[in-house]
Amino acid sequence: MNEFELINHFFKSIPSSRNDVVLGIGDDAALLSIPSGKQLLVTTDTLVAERHFLSCWDAFDIAYKSVMVNVSDIAAMGGDPAWLSLSLTLQEADEFWLCRFAQGLNDAMNQFDIALIGGDTTRGPLSITITLHGLIPVGQGIRRSGAKPGDRIYVSGELGAAALAVTMLNESEQTSDQAVLMQKLLHPQARVDLKDALRSYATSAIDISDGLSSDLNHICESSQVGACLNLSDIPIHPLVRKIQRDKAIEFALHGGDDYELCFTVRPEQEEQMLQALKKLTISCYPVGIITAETGLTAQDPAGRIKPVQIKGYRHF
Ligand code: ADP
Ligand code: MG
Repeated sequence: MNEFELINHFFKSIPSSRNDVVLGIGDDAALLSIPSGKQLLVTTDTLVAERHFLSCWDAFDIAYKSVMVNVSDIAAMGGDPAWLSLSLTLQEADEFWLCRFAQGLNDAMNQFDIALIGGDTTRGPLSITITLHGLIPVGQGIRRSGAKPGDRIYVSGELGAAALAVTMLNESEQTSDQAVLMQKLLHPQARVDLKDALRSYATSAIDISDGLSSDLNHICESSQVGACLNLSDIPIHPLVRKIQRDKAIEFALHGGDDYELCFTVRPEQEEQMLQALKKLTISCYPVGIITAETGLTAQDPAGRIKPVQIKGYRHF
């Protein structure tokens, strides 16, 4: 199979019902209609073999995760994901691998009505770069920079499971608990469902890709504020509590790869936001408050306030 047959067979065939793609895969560039009243959000993430995923993983999972981490960035801005461009570097054109990859891509894209609009295919060490375009009503994009002292800090879902799964990657036998944790690592769920509540109420938002301490710190730095977390309020995944009793809070505070959202809301809007969130299946938890004094602190169950070390994942 040559490069063009490969693109046609595995990628051009992925269906889409979007009518805003004037011209998709097959020309020199895609041609897209941006609906009036909308702004374009653009995000890119690269996943490199043995760094972000293991090349021995099912290609379905590799593709699925590659899409979700990008969708998560659009979700953190309050947007709707729309158009996806895929740059794929492969060591070889293995048809079984490509078939699973296309299935995982399709599965994740389908959940959000995303169209594959183009990309690039090259030979080299396995890596996947996705550029995802999203749409947002003009002026409603949620930035990291909008948090103000007194704002309440919220987190969606429960934290720490994906980071715990990473510590178990080399174990040959998997218990049922480990299988559940692995699912959290392989199949994160981007929180696009929160978009309406975020657009209406959030003053700032970020997705938790590197760990709560590190990502909340990005909000603080962009907003020129600090934050005080309430340690006993941090939502810890129940299996992290069960398996890592003593270190559970460390996994929840500093563990990456959960792709939950962290966002802030003005105290006077909190009640209304909670009403809006009630209609969703995803739980959101209050975890602390934005402070005028910069830096990240946490209150322990005894009421003592201490600085929090920022320990998220860094490539360099
Ligand atoms: P060009 O030489 O103009 O860069 P390519 O030969 O790289 O074009 O790609 C041909 C068409 O196939 C383009 O429309 C491109 O967007 C699309 N394409 C290439 N690789 C992929 C891929 N992995 N997934 C989806 N579309 C792809
Ligand atoms: Mg090209």
